[in-house]
Amino acid sequence: MQRFKTLEDLKNSYSERIRQIADERKSGKKLVGTFCLFVPDEIIFAAGADRVILCGGKNDTVSIAEQYLPRNICPLVKSSFGSIINDGCSGVKSCSHFSMVDMIVAENTCDSKKKMYELLGDYVPTYVIDLPQRPDTPEALKYFLSELEKFRDAMEQLTGNKVTTEGLRQEIKSSNETRELLHRLYELRKRDPSPISGSHVLKILQKQYFLSPDKLKEYLRMLITEVENIEPEQVHKPRIMISGCPMPGGNTKVTEIIESKGGVIVAEESCTGTRSFWDLIDENKEPMTALAERYIKIPCSCMSPNDRRIDNILELAREFRVNGVIYYTLQFCHGYNIEKQKIQKALKEAGIPMLSIETDYSDSDVEQIGLRVDAFMEMIS
Ligand code: SF4
Ligand code: SF4
Repeated sequence: MQRFKTLEDLKNSYSERIRQIADERKSGKKLVGTFCLFVPDEIIFAAGADRVILCGGKNDTVSIAEQYLPRNICPLVKSSFGSIINDGCSGVKSCSHFSMVDMIVAENTCDSKKKMYELLGDYVPTYVIDLPQRPDTPEALKYFLSELEKFRDAMEQLTGNKVTTEGLRQEIKSSNETRELLHRLYELRKRDPSPISGSHVLKILQKQYFLSPDKLKEYLRMLITEVENIEPEQVHKPRIMISGCPMPGGNTKVTEIIESKGGVIVAEESCTGTRSFWDLIDENKEPMTALAERYIKIPCSCMSPNDRRIDNILELAREFRVNGVIYYTLQFCHGYNIEKQKIQKALKEAGIPMLSIETDYSDSDVEQIGLRVDAFMEMIS
């Protein structure tokens, strides 16, 4: 497997970033914790605050959460909650940046998240953005814009800084630059053979919500230069797209299994993938309207109807010339699990094979998933 110096360097970025946040907080800067793509970072940054994402991707905090939450909810919610509760209750730090967060900004998406946020309010002030769930209606956009305006006011109150139109424009420009860099990286993955594995790309995608925007851009530029200049191994591998639930830091199980079985992941239709950057924000519009228009279109399965996601998956599968799609869902994630039926039908009609994997963060099913992936690879090779 290729080695990338950027990704080696990225391993040290955690402690560096924690130091940066600690310094910022000493000088009075506020830190906001988020869990979801529907929260526009641009508003947080324009208010002069910093942000980190708090989604858990590790198995070790799941059992802690199960003392408080039902077992039959998704591992992402349990892992996130477990990290925070562990820190809050026993003093053993699972999530070393949670204790630095001044406010959580949550969103009304799936039921498990919504209800978890109600409990989190006991640990840290929690602000919830209410999302309209039928995004294609004109009323939905109007409502979402009014919710974002309230959120902007809450950020002003938290930081004591005014969010100006100019400040928002600057942040939109900056976040579009990041999106363009991610597009450049994904453009390179369209090559056959792909010059970088999906397991490698996942490392930077997982860090994108933790690093500062400037640092993320620096790493992306370095990685793109490295990828542009490497000589890929001239071996054809089945080209796979993963589609489904996010894979937050610590969760690399399925990606690693697929690539250990001879496939190469060339795209991810996921919140740790294209959903985070595919659409840019219109820099020529009034900034709050432009933000509302862009963010309401995120094709998350909590939206209904969600045909936009099907169109997006088909478009990505064609653009990245995939041989097959692996539909990845976390156990008890009802939205993505139910939506699978429609995706499977659309892919079948388009002649694109699909394998569905439903799993959690434990290693108990690694062997069984490996066998199914093996059979799928054989079928599409
Ligand atoms: S899958 Fe939906 S709810 Fe989860 S992070 Fe993505 S946009 Fe948010
Ligand atoms: S993976 Fe599914 S159930 Fe879990 S938080 Fe995301 S949308 Fe909700």
